[in-house]
Amino acid sequence: MVMEATDLAGVEKFLSRQQLLFIGGRWCESTSGETFPVLNPATGKVIAQVAKGGSADIDLAVKAARKAFCSDEWQKKITPADRGKLLWKWADLLEANFIELAHLETINNGMPIAIAQMALAESIKFVRYYSGMTAKIHGKAQHSKSGSNGGNALAYTIREPVGVVGQIIPWNGPILMAIWKMAPALAAGCSLVLKPDEKTPLTALWLGALAMEAGFPKGVINIVSGLGEEAGAALAAHSDIDKIAFTGSPEIGREIVKASAGNFKRVSLELGGKSPNIIFSDANLEIAIPTAVQSIFANQGQVCTAGSRLYVEANIFDRVVDTVVMITKGLKVGNGLNPDNHLGPLISNKQLSRVHQYVESGLQEGSKLITGGKQIGETGYFYEPTIFINCNSQMKIVQEEIFGPVLTIMPFESFDEVVQKSNNTTYGLAAGIWTNNIKKAHTLASYLQAGTVWINSYNVFDPTCPFGGFKQSGWGRECGQEGLDLYMETKTVMCTL
Ligand code: ADP
Repeated sequence: MVMEATDLAGVEKFLSRQQLLFIGGRWCESTSGETFPVLNPATGKVIAQVAKGGSADIDLAVKAARKAFCSDEWQKKITPADRGKLLWKWADLLEANFIELAHLETINNGMPIAIAQMALAESIKFVRYYSGMTAKIHGKAQHSKSGSNGGNALAYTIREPVGVVGQIIPWNGPILMAIWKMAPALAAGCSLVLKPDEKTPLTALWLGALAMEAGFPKGVINIVSGLGEEAGAALAAHSDIDKIAFTGSPEIGREIVKASAGNFKRVSLELGGKSPNIIFSDANLEIAIPTAVQSIFANQGQVCTAGSRLYVEANIFDRVVDTVVMITKGLKVGNGLNPDNHLGPLISNKQLSRVHQYVESGLQEGSKLITGGKQIGETGYFYEPTIFINCNSQMKIVQEEIFGPVLTIMPFESFDEVVQKSNNTTYGLAAGIWTNNIKKAHTLASYLQAGTVWINSYNVFDPTCPFGGFKQSGWGRECGQEGLDLYMETKTVMCTL
């Protein structure tokens, strides 16, 4: 259910001023004085001018983050429990600004308001989860008897924050992605420089203001908006960044890895997917089918875990396809602020062209378009929910991440066949299995090369459950204890007895 906006004066005020960089606890213009425009993808109109941070600004932000990281205040005065309180307060402020933040997310990203509100609610849960972990970070003690000197030793490990962290996030879930990166880094005791995507920097900047209000020391959180090839590249290459966390495309992921080599900074990557969603004939189709539709078209398919390859057991294929198409034709596409709309616009004109090129390639390669395949209207970047059948594993639309509302549906005859087809991409982020046969479900889950496997559900996220990719979907796991581990080093201390 959508919570209605009663007062959006805060959003209007926010948009009426030029957006600045948040460095060392101060709001400042970029060193160059340059700005860039940010659009509402539902209208194509400029809604804000934002400071364009470049390498000089990244350098200032990294210096501020290093100073804060090394300060007595962050290292000593603020105890782990205090860090937890700061995070909890931040979550309270996110809650207090709930309606306005979700509204801003929708007008900047285009996503339906119900999704913006749900993602914000999940983000708040996520901050509270990590707030509860700050005082539970500790190593292990052991009596070491296998040492190379043959002696007895008391050995123990200490978990330390990795240091100053750079975080580069995409545009498809601006608040959620910012929180997924920032909350565990702060919980671990790091300081950070966040670079939001240039298409969607607005809510991240608001999060920075709320973090300041929550009382995080100056310089612990820095937010530098700017272009990927400028601010992003400078952050990834900076020699005083200890760890870089990135979510985005595989192409840029490769650039991040190369840039990290200069000082061997730690790297974690989340690079998208081409996830199989598998329906067996013994599944509860009343839930499986609408969820399959939701799993690809939610957020216009601009979700890294989108269930973009639907595999259906051959004996129910026609029936499932008919129902999927019927539900899809009932989906309303339009401005995300109207709660009746199920899909909003794509993020940009560039993304719209990219999606359409994939649709054309699907047609050229011989698959059959059964619904959608066109832009809607001329204002904003709306695209019809699109479905292909008669596809095979070699086609681009089956292999490559489209990041748009395009579903391919393919039949399978046997268990082994669906295992082989599901694993036949370079990605390995997520998968869905629909069956009432427990043994089949768990056996298949064990064979799928995916970081997350949902059984009889899809796109369920939990702050306590690790999330990340096999194969070229990434390095490392966010969420849960593993999400915290990304931001820590382990030190072993041995004392010979
Ligand atoms: P998309 O193609 O979906 O926009 P990208 O991978 O290009 O996704 O962008 C994800 C994030 O990476 C954004 O914050 C973007 O600014 C940033 N980025 C883009 N190019 C670079 C780069 N060369 N180095 C570092 N970050 C970059």
